[in-house]
Amino acid sequence: MLGQMMFQPLLISSMIEHAERYHADTAIISKNTDTSITQTTWGEVAHNAKRFAQALSALGLTQGQRVATIAWNNHRHLEAWYAISGTGLVCHTINPRLFPEQVEFIVNDAEDQVIIFDKTFLPLIKAVEDKIPTVRHLICLDAVDANIQAQLPHVHFYDQLIEAQNGALEWPHFDENLASSLCYTSGTTGYPKGVLYSHRSTVLHSYAIALPDSMNLSARDVMMPVVPMFHVNAWGTPYAAAAVGTSLVLPGPQLDGKSLVELIDQFKVTLALGVPTIWQGLMAAATEMGSQLESLQRNIVGGSACPPSMMQIFKERFNCETIHAWGMTETSPLGTANQLKAKHHQLSEEERAKIRLAQGRPPFGVSLRLTEAEQSTQSVAHDGNSIGHLQIKGHWIIERYFAKTESATTADGWLDTGDIATLDQDGFMRISDRSKDLIKSGGEWISSVELENIAMGHPEISTAAAIAAIHPKWDERPVLIAVKVADSSLTEADVLDYYQDKIAKWQIPDRVIFVQSIPLSGTGKMLKRELRNMYENVLIQQKKD
Ligand code: AMP
Repeated sequence: MLGQMMFQPLLISSMIEHAERYHADTAIISKNTDTSITQTTWGEVAHNAKRFAQALSALGLTQGQRVATIAWNNHRHLEAWYAISGTGLVCHTINPRLFPEQVEFIVNDAEDQVIIFDKTFLPLIKAVEDKIPTVRHLICLDAVDANIQAQLPHVHFYDQLIEAQNGALEWPHFDENLASSLCYTSGTTGYPKGVLYSHRSTVLHSYAIALPDSMNLSARDVMMPVVPMFHVNAWGTPYAAAAVGTSLVLPGPQLDGKSLVELIDQFKVTLALGVPTIWQGLMAAATEMGSQLESLQRNIVGGSACPPSMMQIFKERFNCETIHAWGMTETSPLGTANQLKAKHHQLSEEERAKIRLAQGRPPFGVSLRLTEAEQSTQSVAHDGNSIGHLQIKGHWIIERYFAKTESATTADGWLDTGDIATLDQDGFMRISDRSKDLIKSGGEWISSVELENIAMGHPEISTAAAIAAIHPKWDERPVLIAVKVADSSLTEADVLDYYQDKIAKWQIPDRVIFVQSIPLSGTGKMLKRELRNMYENVLIQQKKD
């Protein structure tokens, strides 16, 4: 017997419709590409999304076609997102920090029909325009600009397109399993692969990230997603924000610490999200500017491991609670978030801080398990100590990559994450490494994340990466590549000494090499593969010297 309740498809348009109906006057603050600030509302964003949806139809686009965006986090980009997915087109966000050749590959792989771009990215568009035959329209996310028109004669301008429309549109209803958006993996291993989200997966993910034990989003929050909309849909926050009526501050192109501190203080941001490198810059700038980040109640750190020192500084200096979260492009991205349980209240402050450093536990809707090897179904104990290969399944986890026929999952339907982790009975997951970054010394694993966390706890080290260097006796030994803070006279011996008593002796790196900077990927992750290419022979060379 079937249940007898109404059926409404879980569509992205229903979230913007809700925001329009019940949160129309809630503020959306946007820093534009020219750094001016626009103050708009969910009501206006929803209206303009409908106008742009009409404009897209007028350009002859039909359901299922891909419309790419290359843009910062700003209000026009937000409107375009809802317009694209709302009408059944697929919103393909492209990371502008990729090389032109990679952008060309991705646009051709996705067979994008349209590219919507911010002015800043005109040179990138010029570099690829002759090599992307499927693209029929280019739309600049701005008012008419003669300079751009001179360089791209057929370009459309967003403001002009929406001015020609009245917004009298009912969002169409269709199957909730249809594709809504497309993101490519960062491609640090091989060619980038497309992850095609559905309306259903996106709406369920939005519910999950808003939950109290995830990001705890509400209509009382002012949220600043520093994480770009081209990085796994800004972790899904622009969707969840509409669903719960959260006010947004969209930081545009300026992601330096000072600009972010100014936005937090001026617009009373209560919650901000970003990768660890963003927070490094922000903490330094806030200290220099004498800001207490008074309005900021919590910040969410993900994308890479959150160093313990960062969590401590946010708490002690800024009275801000840091929530550590983990996820992947393939997981929409939220896989875990770290919020304590009631039973943890009786623990000491120190014990609680230790638990909060883990990547967290899964919200309802996803499950985790550990296995003995990649693609294996043989499980490893979830006892908080045993290390295994992390696998995940759930409503918003990839089943197969875009345009691929083979499944991306194990024989019994789990996705291998490529991460190595421990898991306890409460679901708290702690990443010890990316499987390819683990350091295997004499058959024993050493966690590069742990070595980095310790190093970054030193007040004179700003960033550090631990990598495996080839060793004649132990196969691999850890080497630390570190960046010192300005004016530091720290030596290699000082750092090695700092490791004493913090970790087993055999895990202490063999060498510490100071560098000016560590190469970062387009999404702010340390490019350890490049470091390994540069330094993996350093211990052998040393022997020969
Ligand atoms: P991407 O799909 O580019 O976002 O990369 C996903 C990968 O980033 C994960 O598989 C992890 O290796 C890493 N990652 C994400 N969040 C964290 C975190 N909180 N701690 C450690 N690694 C993380």
